[in-house]
Amino acid sequence: MAEPPAHNRIVVGSTPTGPTKFGVRQILRRTRTNNDFINQQIIVFRKEIMMEIKAQAQLLMNLNEVDLKIDHLQKELQQIPIREREEELDVLSKKSKVDRAIAEIADLEHKKRILEKEVAETTDRMAEFQKKLPMIKTNKEYQLALKEIDENKKFNKQRDDQTLEIIGQLETLAVTKKEDEEYLHGSTVAFEARKKELESERLKLTDALGELVQIKEGISPKIEARFLAAYQRIRKQKSDAVVTIFGGICQGCHMKISPQMRLDMQKTTTATSLFTCPTCHRILCLPDWTGLTDTNAIMTKVL
Ligand SMILES: [Zn+2]
Repeated sequence: MAEPPAHNRIVVGSTPTGPTKFGVRQILRRTRTNNDFINQQIIVFRKEIMMEIKAQAQLLMNLNEVDLKIDHLQKELQQIPIREREEELDVLSKKSKVDRAIAEIADLEHKKRILEKEVAETTDRMAEFQKKLPMIKTNKEYQLALKEIDENKKFNKQRDDQTLEIIGQLETLAVTKKEDEEYLHGSTVAFEARKKELESERLKLTDALGELVQIKEGISPKIEARFLAAYQRIRKQKSDAVVTIFGGICQGCHMKISPQMRLDMQKTTTATSLFTCPTCHRILCLPDWTGLTDTNAIMTKVL
C-alpha cells in the first residue's frame, strides 16, 4: 500500500512538509476563494430568478396587451346595439314626420268637407229663398229677404276663401309628404343594409374576442398566482397595468424611474419580485422585454 501523503489537501495549511501554522494571509485567501464560489452560486441563482422575473413580466405584459384588446373589442361590441338604435331612431323620426303629415292632411280634408257642406247647405237655402221672393208682398219683407240673401252670400264667400286656403295648404303638404316619404324609404333601405353590416361586424368582433380569450387562457396559467393577483389588483385602477420604461420615464405616469432601479432591472441583483413604478405602482418592463405573443393580426381583421 502506498503511504498516504504527508499533507492533507483538505486541511487548510497542510503542506508536503507537514502541517504548518495557519497564516492570516492564507486564511484570508482560502475564505475569499470560498466566498467567490458562494458568490458565483448566488449570481447563478439570482440570474435564474432574474430570468424568471423577466419572463413573468413579459408574460404579464403580454396578458395586459391581450386584456386591453379584449377591453377594446368589448367596448366595440357594446357600441353595436347603440349604433343600431341610433340609426333606427333616425328612421323612426322620419316615419313620425310622414305620419304627422298624413294626420294633418286628414284633418284639413275633414275641415274642407265641413266647409263645403256648409256652402252647399247655404246655397240650397238661398235657392229656396229665391223661389219665395216673388211671393213677398211688402217692401219691408222684400228688403229683409235681400239682406238675408246678401248675408248668406257673404257666409259662403268666407267659407270658399277658407276652403281655398286649405286647398293651398294641402298642396304644400302633399309635396313635403312625398319628399318625406322618399327620405323615409331611403332611410329604411339604408337601415336594413346597415343592420346586416352591423351584424357581420358583431360576428367578426365576437370571433376575434374568442381568439383573444383563448390566448389569454394560454398565458394566465404560466404566471405565478401572486403576480397574477398583483396584476389584477392594478388593473382595477389602471387598464394599462404593465408598462415599459422609455428614456428613464415610466410610460404609465411619465415619472422618472431611478437609475438604480433601471440598473437592478438590467443586472442580476435582488429581483425576487416584480419591478413596479414607485409613483403609479404599475408593473414595469424594460423596452427590450417585449410581449411573447403577437395579437395585432387579430385586431387588424376587425378594426
Ligand atoms: Zn409610473
